[in-house]
Amino acid sequence: MEPKNVWESYSASQLKELEVFSKDYRDFLDNGKTERECVNVIVNMAEKSGYVELEERLKKNKPLKKGEKIYCVNMNKAIMLFNIGSEPLEKGMNLLGAHIDSPRMDIKGNPLYEDSSIAYLDTHYYGGVKKYQWVATPLSIHGVVVKKDGTTIEMAVGEEDDDPVFFVSDLLIHLAGEQMEKKASKVIEGEALDIIVGNKPLVVKGAKKDEAKASKDPVKQAVLKILKDDYDMDEEDFLSAELEVVPAGKAREAGFDRSMILAYGQDDRVCAFSSLYAMLQVKDVKRTSCCILVDKEEIGSVGATGMTSNYFENVIAEMFNLNGNYSDLLVRRCLANSTMLSSDVNAAYDPSYPSAFEKKNTSFMGSGMVFSKFTGSRGKSGSNDANAEFIAFLRKILDDAKVIYQFAELGRVDVGGGGTIAYIMAKYGMNVIDAGVAVLNMHAPYEATSKADVYETMRGYVAFLNSEGM
Ligand code: MN
Ligand code: MN
Repeated sequence: MEPKNVWESYSASQLKELEVFSKDYRDFLDNGKTERECVNVIVNMAEKSGYVELEERLKKNKPLKKGEKIYCVNMNKAIMLFNIGSEPLEKGMNLLGAHIDSPRMDIKGNPLYEDSSIAYLDTHYYGGVKKYQWVATPLSIHGVVVKKDGTTIEMAVGEEDDDPVFFVSDLLIHLAGEQMEKKASKVIEGEALDIIVGNKPLVVKGAKKDEAKASKDPVKQAVLKILKDDYDMDEEDFLSAELEVVPAGKAREAGFDRSMILAYGQDDRVCAFSSLYAMLQVKDVKRTSCCILVDKEEIGSVGATGMTSNYFENVIAEMFNLNGNYSDLLVRRCLANSTMLSSDVNAAYDPSYPSAFEKKNTSFMGSGMVFSKFTGSRGKSGSNDANAEFIAFLRKILDDAKVIYQFAELGRVDVGGGGTIAYIMAKYGMNVIDAGVAVLNMHAPYEATSKADVYETMRGYVAFLNSEGM
């Protein structure tokens, strides 16, 4: 089976639609560089499309009617959307599930220090990163600082043209003889990933020269003064902050032909956006459709906002309760009868690194939506397995909708591996398969996708949400 080229399949009007969609996608990436920012953007988009918050809907205490659209937010870091179908909920749902967290550096709880007249914020990376990729490149800080009185201060510095940016230093090549001999995993160590945030001492106007000099860590003091003036925050407030350091700058078109997108955080915001877009596009459905956009996938789907939390099933229970027919059995039936596309990215074949891939079972950029029966590593350890019956059902749906797709494993056998939220959802007894977009240089500060793949994957998600069950 030779991979098809998606670009060749489009009409002029589809190409036009693809470019509009692609611009929306880049805007989404620019406005959502953290999971919290993504949730804010998604809530706005959902409300514009007629979605109502579940909390509000619960107050009405009336059964959910077909065509109703609801959403619920979990701790500002994860979100779920439901489009109520004409069939009873216990018959199952069509689910799309992506994650909106991405690899980054988090600022530690006690981060600020000064060394040799340079002020630093100490970080601890999040998710799988090649640490050497994060040095000597412009970085921005995004996040929230929550003060003891409960007020939340939002921070986003480094994105506007006249914003300052931050950076991690690297050793100049002239003196790097010893460093260059090290293994790539040791070239830049985790504790070396501290970002530089200042170099100018605090000078108190009117104070005597000796007094200013005597103050300990004057550069750090100057940074603290700026934080106080601009954000009304004290040093202790870092303790209750969630500040994420990410590459500065916007998502860009890539290539002379502008066929690709180069941007931070495409794993997995590319699938989050295309799933969301499909969800908002599909109107009347037989099976209730649901789009889950979760946090913490990159560190094992842990915590209250990750997929292993009970939040999802709690919401389903609330929905049955609203319908006046809650029972544990009905919730279980609903989950087991559901089908799901675990919307996550796959590794695109990289001609510069052919030894990492097995070409017959690899995804290619520009060859459409990617399905993976298995993920995991070594002998498929930690994987979900999508059943042949479910895959056959999906092939029919996608072929009928003229969606171009490919099947792939993540790299050559025994080279490495990875996981998604698929195996967690499979525990409910539902059919689930990984389905998403091929990404080049995944987990790098800037990841690449094909515009055509993103658009085609969105079309695949639409076809799936419209399907009427196995
Ligand atoms: Mn992912
Ligand atoms: Mn990932």
